[in-house]
Amino acid sequence: MKHSLQNATSLLTFLASVLPSSIPSPSTNGNATREEFIADVAAGMKRAPMATRLTSHILSLVNWEQAYSDPIRRQFIPLASSFQLDNPRLQLDSLHESLDSPVKGLVHRYPDKVLFLASSVCPVYCRFCTRSYSVGAKTETVSKKRFLLLRKYWEPMFKYIARTPTVTDVVVSGGDSYFLEPAQLREVGEELLRIDNVLRIRFASKGLSICPSRILDFTDDWTRTLIEISNLGRKKGKSVALHTHFNHSQEISWVTEQAAQRLFENAVTVRNQTVLLNGVDNDVATMKGLIRRLADINIQPYYVYQGDMVQGVEDLRTPLRDILHIESHVRGTIAGFMTPSFVVDLPAGGGKRLAQTFQSYDQKTGVSRFVAPGVKGDTFHEYYDLLWSLP
Ligand code: SF4
Repeated sequence: MKHSLQNATSLLTFLASVLPSSIPSPSTNGNATREEFIADVAAGMKRAPMATRLTSHILSLVNWEQAYSDPIRRQFIPLASSFQLDNPRLQLDSLHESLDSPVKGLVHRYPDKVLFLASSVCPVYCRFCTRSYSVGAKTETVSKKRFLLLRKYWEPMFKYIARTPTVTDVVVSGGDSYFLEPAQLREVGEELLRIDNVLRIRFASKGLSICPSRILDFTDDWTRTLIEISNLGRKKGKSVALHTHFNHSQEISWVTEQAAQRLFENAVTVRNQTVLLNGVDNDVATMKGLIRRLADINIQPYYVYQGDMVQGVEDLRTPLRDILHIESHVRGTIAGFMTPSFVVDLPAGGGKRLAQTFQSYDQKTGVSRFVAPGVKGDTFHEYYDLLWSLP
């Protein structure tokens, strides 16, 4: 974590040290030089909605010989040459989280669940982040709405949850729970478990994926604290789980396997949420490979998300037809309890719906329509495919 790259300059310096002199380039059907690639990254970072932060672990898993097409590079390092025109319907806060916040930092959309945004910081910044309106440092194109890691900001959130008895589920996210100090993780976990109506807590963290060695570091209290909160919840008859985020099996190293095993041995439930991304995991073989690798290390593949309609990352979004195709080919190839739900998180706060449940989908205009009666009554929610995918 200490050796993470945290700004554009350090990333560009790092790239100069690892890239080969010549890199196969799909856009030219030939090769680009190292210097051309670095200039492409520098220009890409000026337009990106997310700041730069990358751990040594995740950088060690990139195949730099294939830097243009590598599925990990594509998720974290922007290239100006890949940018695509935004669909005009895109927004930075496409899920309208800010409009569903009764208290700053708390999103209450579903009747029984709240999202507790404990911080705005992550150990890495994913280009496609759905919360690009708030997560990470500001960029040249986006100033951010911050959520602070402070008890005084959390207090009204705890109070709202305690006085709202319908709330039984809390997702602690942000930002990333890896950026809570162990004492803060304990404070949030124990305070939530003290509230009678809270029965289930999920800590969202990409930590297992992007810095698994921390889970194995016995001098670091974060994992011990998580295990203790999980055990405390169990004693009280409440469930505590870790929700993590892998998008490609290339992200799973031998260190990841050992870290996942430590959590499994200590009875910590771990579930995974994948985002479907163009050139990363939007083909059947890659998705099947990821799901099986996760299942084999006892991480439950829980959701595969259609990419949210956020601005500035249209090269990574996929048309709805991709998720429909992949879901139909994956289902039945692995045990049902290890088969994820393939969902669209509906724009404008309709919540998650199975992608297959669209009311209509016109592949010529790329417009699909959904309803979410349990969340937003009879209102229609429209999802728009990317312009480059339309005939
Ligand atoms: S780890 Fe999650 S919250 Fe953080 S940048 Fe990535 S997608 Fe966004």
